[in-house]
Formats: sequence, C-alpha cells, structure tokens
Amino acid sequence: MKKKSEMKVSRALVLGGAGFIGSHLTEALIADGVEVTVLDDLSVGKRDNVPGRAAFVQACVGDTAAVRAAADGCEVVFHLAAKVSIRHSIKTFIEDARINLMGTLGAIKGSSEAGAKKFIFASSMAVYDDSPSPSPISEEYPTDPVSPYGLSKLAAERYCLLLAESLGLETVILRYFNTYGRGQTFTPYVGVITIFINQLLSGRSPTIFGDGEQQRDFIHVSDVVNATLLAMRADCPGEVFNVGTGSATSINRIAALLADRIRPGQAPQYTEPAEGELRYSVADITKARRLLGFDPAVTIESRLNEVIEWNRRA
Ligand code: NAD
Repeated sequence: MKKKSEMKVSRALVLGGAGFIGSHLTEALIADGVEVTVLDDLSVGKRDNVPGRAAFVQACVGDTAAVRAAADGCEVVFHLAAKVSIRHSIKTFIEDARINLMGTLGAIKGSSEAGAKKFIFASSMAVYDDSPSPSPISEEYPTDPVSPYGLSKLAAERYCLLLAESLGLETVILRYFNTYGRGQTFTPYVGVITIFINQLLSGRSPTIFGDGEQQRDFIHVSDVVNATLLAMRADCPGEVFNVGTGSATSINRIAALLADRIRPGQAPQYTEPAEGELRYSVADITKARRLLGFDPAVTIESRLNEVIEWNRRA
C-alpha cells in the first residue's frame, strides 16, 4: 500500500509538548509553518522547553474541556503526554493508569469534540512481550506487557483504535523505541543514555541493572520526530507503527561508548535486574519504511557527543 494523499496541516495541538520529544516535535512543526498549541501540566516538562511561537495551556490531559478548547481549529492532535517510566510504574500503577489510560480517553474525547481530524498517539515498545532474542520484532509480535506502563499504553492504544470511527477521528499509533537526544528530562527512571551521562559527569560509574547484555533499539529524537511528521501527512488511519532504527545495542556497549567520551576507563557497576524491564527490545521497521517512507538517519555514535555537551551545560 502506498501513501494516497498528503494531509495539509495548518494548526496542531501537542499534548505533552513541554516534555522531551513533544518539545522537539513542536519545534519541527513550527519550522514547517504549522501553528502549534502545547498543552502540558508541567509535572515533568518545563515551560522553557515550549518554543516562544507556540501557544501554551497548562492543564491536565485528562481534562476533556481543556483539551477541547486547546484543540479548537486544529486538524491534528499529537498525544505525547504521559507518565513515562517502565520501572517506576510498578509502584505507581494507579497514577500510571490514571494519566496514561484515563488521560488518553479525556484527550481523544476532547479532540473529537473540537473537530480535529487526526489523533496521533505516542505509544511504546513496552507494549510487547519480552522477546527471546535481539532479532527485530514487527507490529505483529505478541503484545503482552511485562510492566504496568506497557499495559496502560496498550489499553490506551486499543481504546484509540476502537473509538476512532465513532469519534470521527483518524487514529495512528506510533510505538516509539528508546529515544535519546538533547533535552531529555533527567530522572532516575527514564532514558538510560541520559542517566549514564549524568552519572559519569558527576564522577560515578554507570549503574547497570542485570548483566548489561540486554539489547535496545536507540533512536535519536530527530528520527522520532521525522516519523511522527510522516504519520501526520500520510493517509494511514488505524495503523500501528514501530518507530525505531532496527539496530540492537547492548547496555554494556552504551556504558562503554559514554565512558570513553566522558571518563575513559570508568567501569560500570552492576546491580540486580530491574523488575518490569524487557530483555530484548528491537524494532522491525519494515512497515514504517513501506507505508510512511520512514528512513532513520542518525547512528548512535554520531550524536552522543552532542547529548553529552547538552547535559554538561544543563
Ligand atoms: P517526557 O516526560 O519528557 O514528556 C511527557 C510530558 O507529558 C511532560 O512534559 C509532562 O509534563 C507531560 N505530562 C505528564 N502528565 C501529564 C498530564 N496529566 N497532563 C498534561 N501533561 C502531562 O517524556 P518523553 O520522553 O518526551 O515521552 C513522550 C511520549 O513518548 C510519552 O507518551 C512516552 O510514553 C512516549 N515514549 C517515550 C519513549 C522514550 O524513550 N522517551 C519511548 C517510548 C514511548
């Protein structure tokens, strides 16, 4: 199947646009000539992350009336607002479901009531069952999440797809894999590259959960934004896409690459494997290549210095 027609977008709402990926997406939309409103509760995101040319509303994504008002006149709503932590969600599963599932229902209802045409939902590789090998997994791979976060994302995906027709929205699901880049919020739970950089910059060893041979698909935020813009333009209602690179990198390799650049010779320290984390998580992106024309451009080695420098200054 090929793209049928390109959707022209003049106004868009970015839910969670004060966060890491959402703020990069907002910048790219503005550069594309789109008028953008950002809605974010600033629980994690920062007001300063929102580009000056975007309108800003501070509200909860589950507040249907606030989303409806913010989405007024927008053709597309990007839903990136979430509690983003696989590990933390094991303890905070009620809050996780409240924001990631119930918040999504408020967001999709408000978007539909405002007359938006398209709703793009940022889901996650956490919806998949663990894989027995680092071979890339397609969208057909069993969805059997091993964390509450993955389960809330999967339930939200299903609601979005189920309700799309009755709410009159074209819905597209993007399963982002491990995203890195400048501007990632530094917390102990999200973004192993940002966490290792901050540990090394403060003179500590990177802390690895388990043996470090778990494999991930690290994708630069510019490629994630690119995939998201392609999904905005494409005619692909009801489709689910993996957004990764297709390449596997172990956590041990990430620790070594970063130590070489920040504190050569600094060995990692190992601790117990973390509950709720996948052993292997690598995307097969054949579908996104075929239907969206997605072609990730960035290799991990080429951008680590930029991310290190950003964290040094942050
Ligand atoms: P982030 O935490 O930097 O951004 C999320 C934003 O949502 C923050 O600005 C936060 O303030 C906002 N938010 C949280 N709860 C809210 C609420 N109730 N109402 C309004 N705003 C709220 O995270 P990110 O890395 O930019 O992730 C963006 C999206 O991509 C999320 O949906 C996440 O689940 C998904 N994702 C991220 C990754 C990754 O590696 N970063 C991987 C897979 C999926």
